[in-house]
Amino acid sequence: MLATVGILSVAFLYRAAGCYIDMTGIPGLESPSPAVSTDGGMTAVHFLDVGQGDSTLICGTEKTVLIDGGERDQGDVVLADLKEFGVKTIDCIIATHPHSDHIGGLVDVLEYAAEYDDLEIKQVIIPDIPENDIPTTAVYANFLNGVEANGLSVTFAEYQMTLDLGSSMMTIYPPVPGADYSSLNDYSVCANLVCGDVSFFFTGDMEHPEEYDLLEGGFLSGVEATVLKAGHHGSSTSSSEELLAQLKPEYVVISCGAGNKYGHPNTEALERFYQYTDEIYRTDLDGIITCTTDGTNVAWTTEGEE
Ligand SMILES: [Zn+2]
Repeated sequence: MLATVGILSVAFLYRAAGCYIDMTGIPGLESPSPAVSTDGGMTAVHFLDVGQGDSTLICGTEKTVLIDGGERDQGDVVLADLKEFGVKTIDCIIATHPHSDHIGGLVDVLEYAAEYDDLEIKQVIIPDIPENDIPTTAVYANFLNGVEANGLSVTFAEYQMTLDLGSSMMTIYPPVPGADYSSLNDYSVCANLVCGDVSFFFTGDMEHPEEYDLLEGGFLSGVEATVLKAGHHGSSTSSSEELLAQLKPEYVVISCGAGNKYGHPNTEALERFYQYTDEIYRTDLDGIITCTTDGTNVAWTTEGEE
């Protein structure tokens, strides 16, 4: 009940702001629980090692999703990993937010797919950012050109947008409509992947303001995370106590570069994770991290251990 009230009030605010999505027509708003697949097959989630950046490849039985692609100089790494994992079609790329450590490598992926027949990209989802905050950087322009070179237009993330991967179901959680943030990190598109009893929550670089807005709006009602991809590379400005209390992670994955200048992951964030679990995987220590699940059990492999 509380969640419904929260959503309605956000919907009202949004309409009052006179923006572009009619929230009343979006299916599932009355029941914000994540969608669930009934396929029952295996899903593999590969947290790629792109140094100080973020890139996650998700392979269901029917569909494949790539969330972010690391920095501009990591495009070759991501392309090599796509080949290694036998990916010929990316059904959906999610560019969580337009910072270069997330979309930089996607430029190479998009340009490669536009030029060669052995990789096809079918959809690219991005956050709908207020006009004043849309970046004018070269990397963002190159990213958009790359999308166009594939004959595609970007798809703006909307509430309760779902993607059926066969063995798992992904639900998209965009930033709260009408919100005005000082950092692009808070416009991150989040996603919840549910495979039977096992779920993943992907955060981009979401920090406390977006976390609080999603929680207070009731958008994360019913969402838990067996596996949490820590927001913003394990920064203290992400993964608030409130978010962790909602998601209750059993495993945490942090994507960051060895010896990075930002001090990621931050000790305070690690302490907050330890309240829930000491099963913390880090790309700076473990390289590529793969979590495979049949919907009941989870199995982990890290680079060099396979
Ligand atoms: Zn980042």
